[in-house]
Amino acid sequence: KHFPVRRAAGLRLRGEPGQVLRAVEGVTLEVRRGQTLGVVGETGSGKSTLGRLLLRLEQPTAGEVYFEGENIFTASRGRSMQLRERIQIILQDPYSTLNPYRSVGVSIAEVLAVHGTSSGAERRAEAESLLARVGFPADLIDQRPGQLSGGGRQRVSIARALAVKPRLIVADEPVSALDVSVQAQVLNLFEQLRRDLGLTYVFITHDLAVVHRLSERIAVMYLGRVVEEAPTAELFRRPLHPYTKALLDAAPELHLRKTSRQPAVGGDMPNPISPPSGCVFHPRCPQAMDVCRREVPLTIRPAAFRTVACHLNTGPPAYPAQAAAGEA
Ligand code: SF4
Ligand code: MG
Repeated sequence: KHFPVRRAAGLRLRGEPGQVLRAVEGVTLEVRRGQTLGVVGETGSGKSTLGRLLLRLEQPTAGEVYFEGENIFTASRGRSMQLRERIQIILQDPYSTLNPYRSVGVSIAEVLAVHGTSSGAERRAEAESLLARVGFPADLIDQRPGQLSGGGRQRVSIARALAVKPRLIVADEPVSALDVSVQAQVLNLFEQLRRDLGLTYVFITHDLAVVHRLSERIAVMYLGRVVEEAPTAELFRRPLHPYTKALLDAAPELHLRKTSRQPAVGGDMPNPISPPSGCVFHPRCPQAMDVCRREVPLTIRPAAFRTVACHLNTGPPAYPAQAAAGEA
């Protein structure tokens, strides 16, 4: 049977023919082995696209992605298959990766079979040990996804990702669909797995509270740009970008900033096909100045180990090559 091939590159479909949507632009980020980089932003900020780029699920029009020193977009076909196993993604909805008709044990064994665990008995034993590692009850191994709780399903999809022994995990809103109490348990699990297995995470979320505990560093994205990046504690103590401040003010449960409560950032995310002039945040920024409408703020380094793109701040260019080339 033949099906018409349709490219489901979601973001691209929103534009009229000939229009170019830059879901992610001028982003420079680095994650150190064994650490967690939190990527925070609203829906439409480009954070999922960034995650998909790391898995080569999107092809960039420019730029490079290195994994352990290797450019993942120029690697040979065989090599890139190997790299694909080193990087796994965990999504908000485990239903999208779990076959509803396969039991938990079978769906993990399947992954193990593809990656060379030979005998059925071995696969079963390894599936059991993976499930134990993620705190999934052994007596539910023959259940199907539909019979499990949301947290149970997410544990299974984590076990499945671990089956290929990844080194980097891109987690895209992995706890957003779960109840708050279950969220905490699954976040603890992520933390524990990182320690035990030496994993590295790129943790994508709209919820600052989620990455607050888990991440060494946080990158804040807005309309495809990283507007601020800093060590987690510093970002919370002294946010520099008005958008970061608004996000923090909208997360009162964190109680980290003792400011008078300001309203969360008003208005909607602009259409990324025709982004605002100058600073893309200016239509929503409570501190916008004239220069903000005219000039794109350069990403600067206002202090060691942090960057920000906002005219209110001063510092040397964070990426001198980009600064010299104008807007990279
Ligand atoms: Fe606000 Fe201007 Fe800074 Fe943009 S550059 S965040 S508009 S103050
Ligand atoms: Mg998303």
